[in-house]
Amino acid sequence: MSRTIIVSNRLPVKVVKNDKDELEYRPSEGGLATGLSSVYKQGDNLWVGWPGRYFNRPEKQKEARKALESQNMRPVFLSKEEIKLYYEGFSNETLWPTFHYFNQNALYKKSYWEAYEEVNQKFCDEILKELNPGDKIWVHDYQLMLVPKMIRDKNPDVSVGFFLHIPFPSFEVFRLLPWRRELLDGVLGSDLIGFHTYDDMRHFLSAVSRICYISNQQGHILKDRRTVVTDSFPIGIDYDKYASQAAHPQTLRREVKYRTSLGNQKLMLSIDRLDYSKGIPARLEIFDIFLSKYPEYLGKVSLLMVVVPSRDEVEKYKDLKEEVDLLVGRINGKYGTVNWTPIHYFYRSFPLEDLSAFYRMADVAMVTPMRDGMNLVCKEYVASKLDQQGVLILSEMAGASKELSDALIVNPNDKHEVVGAIYKALNMPEDEQQRHMEIMQKTLKKYNIHHWVNLFLTRLEDVARKRSEQSTKVLDDEAEGEIIEDFNTAKKRLLFLDYDGTLVPFDSDPQAVAPGDELLGILEKLAANDQNHVVIISGRDKTTLGKWLGHLDVDFIAEHGVWLKDRKGD
Ligand code: UDP
Repeated sequence: MSRTIIVSNRLPVKVVKNDKDELEYRPSEGGLATGLSSVYKQGDNLWVGWPGRYFNRPEKQKEARKALESQNMRPVFLSKEEIKLYYEGFSNETLWPTFHYFNQNALYKKSYWEAYEEVNQKFCDEILKELNPGDKIWVHDYQLMLVPKMIRDKNPDVSVGFFLHIPFPSFEVFRLLPWRRELLDGVLGSDLIGFHTYDDMRHFLSAVSRICYISNQQGHILKDRRTVVTDSFPIGIDYDKYASQAAHPQTLRREVKYRTSLGNQKLMLSIDRLDYSKGIPARLEIFDIFLSKYPEYLGKVSLLMVVVPSRDEVEKYKDLKEEVDLLVGRINGKYGTVNWTPIHYFYRSFPLEDLSAFYRMADVAMVTPMRDGMNLVCKEYVASKLDQQGVLILSEMAGASKELSDALIVNPNDKHEVVGAIYKALNMPEDEQQRHMEIMQKTLKKYNIHHWVNLFLTRLEDVARKRSEQSTKVLDDEAEGEIIEDFNTAKKRLLFLDYDGTLVPFDSDPQAVAPGDELLGILEKLAANDQNHVVIISGRDKTTLGKWLGHLDVDFIAEHGVWLKDRKGD
């Protein structure tokens, strides 16, 4: 039976060592893991990925492999060097900043690139060990962009989907990468390529056209005689999980407890991983401007700010942490009183039970990244608002802004606009809050994570089916005999002959695809027969076709049907 193989940098599990030096396997709570758990846990389906930690002892590796395999997971073990160069290096210090338009933070190191190639190959080898004819492979994200091509090179008929969870930058930014061509070729090994937004897809298509010189028709790219389909699939959240957690008595108890200690103030919420793409310093400056512009809010509104530690071994992230610490200290020092702290700052991660209470409590959520593929925090906030009271301020640079147009959409670089949005949010009438929340909740409930998984996998199946229907079928002897007989007995024959890929092989070199003597001889012979009417069809321009084939007694349909020429003239 055909299987679905999910591939991502991390397996949906956290492997931790307990006090007795034993390994424990804790399922990841992330949205992707939840959405895909219904897929990889079924039958013989699989998830291939890095278990997220370094194993120095072979016996521990063996033990982990066995335990993970019993849960439909295949580990790809990485050495310390590989983690440093492929993951922290090329993935997080080259691709991440470039794709988030922070190319000034990007490092272009050959050693990073080489490790990226090697580790992508390692993932591919692990997949190939498992691959059976008819299997579907779904590769996730920027750490594994070379995998689709690597798999296809070994298995031309395989069905591969790729989804990019971060933004795809505009061509002018993407072109800065020294390995831009290899990265595009890698992804183009897929049958289906998914993005969060239409804009990401548009940027990708533009890069393919300008770097690989391949155009597209409505998102369909013709690559090496295969059609590669691109589309946008905005990821959703596990809506019911957030809504039911918000309704849980435990969450209510936490909310009451936190509310009591905060006092009767309005509460604004900000939750991010520590990352320069999230716009945390700019958000703090905005809060500072707000408090100085509207002093009547001093003592009346607080910002609850959660920053989850992330990538703190990377220099840029260390600097960012210091900047955030300083700004929080400065604002609290400037405005704080014995009874009131403007910013409640937590540099750590919280479990869902606490997050849910924060979401419920917050009058306003400030989600103002400089750039974000999607942003799930804003969706979780909306799903947790059971009483439909609360206002979302959302950056137009987050993928989610395309779906949540009922939020207060802002440009995070326009500080005064955001200050205005805070004022508006704090003063929005309850019925207006409810109206906007209701619309956003309806959208998120419908387009949840399960819908996203089904949509992508169904589309991948669809693309694979079409490919197999359209693939060239070899005629058996009987069919061939029938065609020859029909041809010989027909009084008139209309022969449509496609040029590239039919009369000559596909090749981007124009010299290589000019018609040779043998082909010209066949066409001449066909055209010389009065019963035949030969039409050459091509996307090529009429001048080139005229130069190559103009002397023959045949018709042309050139430039995808823009130009027609019959034998009698233009
Ligand atoms: N999150 C969490 N604990 C925290 C803060 C955040 O589990 O203390 C989760 C949050 O619920 C969300 C995810 O981290 O699901 C952040 O996802 P998002 O898409 O907003 O940003 P990313 O970190 O993926 O760039």
